Amino acid sequence: MRDIDGNDYIDYVGSWGPAIIGHADDEVLAALTETMKKGTSFGAPCLLENTLAEMVIAAVPSIEMVRFVNSGTEACMGVLRLARAFTGKQKIIKFEGCYHGHADAFLVKAGSGVATLGLPDSPGVPDTATSDTLTSPYNDIDTIKDLFNTHKGEIAAVILEPVVGNAGFITPKPEFLNFLREITKQNKVLLIFDEVMTGFRLSYGGAQEYFGITPDLTTLGKIIGGGLPVGAYGGRRDIMEMVAPAGPVYQAGTLSGNPLAMTAGIHTLKRLQGSGSYEYLDKVTNQLTNGLLNVGKKNGHAMCGGYIRGMFGFFFTDGPVYNFEDAKKSDGDKFAKFYRGMLEEGVYFAPSQFEAGFTSLAHTTEDIERTINAADKATLLGC
Ligand code: PLP
Repeated sequence: MRDIDGNDYIDYVGSWGPAIIGHADDEVLAALTETMKKGTSFGAPCLLENTLAEMVIAAVPSIEMVRFVNSGTEACMGVLRLARAFTGKQKIIKFEGCYHGHADAFLVKAGSGVATLGLPDSPGVPDTATSDTLTSPYNDIDTIKDLFNTHKGEIAAVILEPVVGNAGFITPKPEFLNFLREITKQNKVLLIFDEVMTGFRLSYGGAQEYFGITPDLTTLGKIIGGGLPVGAYGGRRDIMEMVAPAGPVYQAGTLSGNPLAMTAGIHTLKRLQGSGSYEYLDKVTNQLTNGLLNVGKKNGHAMCGGYIRGMFGFFFTDGPVYNFEDAKKSDGDKFAKFYRGMLEEGVYFAPSQFEAGFTSLAHTTEDIERTINAADKATLLGC
């Protein structure tokens, strides 16, 4: 990445996730140019939309039907309406530090920029929009059991990031996703994986394939648009058939499924289908994460962190970090100095410790070595 002053950076933000094959990929650019010549949007379904839909359905275990929209926020809004309509219930459970876009109902104890700016719940969101949003700490089985008991028969869905990327990088405890799958099934509550970030990143079939847990509904975004605006939601056919025009649950969008976003998505997914993609992501991210933790510790800093395939994170605390409260114990001043030190060395990490980092097929082992050497300087001198 090059800034306006001509400085080059190794980029671990990757547009907050979409850039899994790098920026300005030749193949994607060539395909976009061809598509663009025919027109950029028609407001009618195009064949490219079907092609990408078929690829998504083939890849993601829970998705039997899919609807494209223009952002992850829209996908989460759509899936929420659908879950409420299907179950006839109003309440949802979300987890502290998880971010599901900026729609009103989700801006309760949200992660990402909301957490970074210290705005756990945003002004302008009416109480009526969030009164049915229940929250629990991540990885907290007892709180979920309590919420299910207290609100018996009132809960439409549990929505979560199956690996949290919006409160830093936090993984589910081994039994957590399984527990959620069981308790939701027993209570006829829908389980929604928000895979806007983890979809096609933790594996080609997303976190649900990686962990072997199949939710009822899934949201996607980022990677499936190859860097153009996109979102999608999908899942069980009996639920998805309720979406208009087949069913009564209204949702629409002028630019949804437009040829450009579909083209970039198709060609990005094709590249990910190439042999060894996820092994490569695993290799470079392992090298990066272990390298960062080693130099941090060598220079006397309490640090913990982890990664799965192309997604990683680290905190300036000994850990372990199981939830947002644990993440907040990370030393923010140290992080700020580290972040600035790394920028000066030509490495661009997310400017908040409440964000995950992303590697791509474009990162080389030399890039990672340069990053670790830079971190050695930054952790030694800066923080
Ligand atoms: N859900 C998750 C897990 C996300 O990480 C994000 C964005 O970072 C969203 C939803 C919202 O997506 P968008 O920014 O495309 O609206």
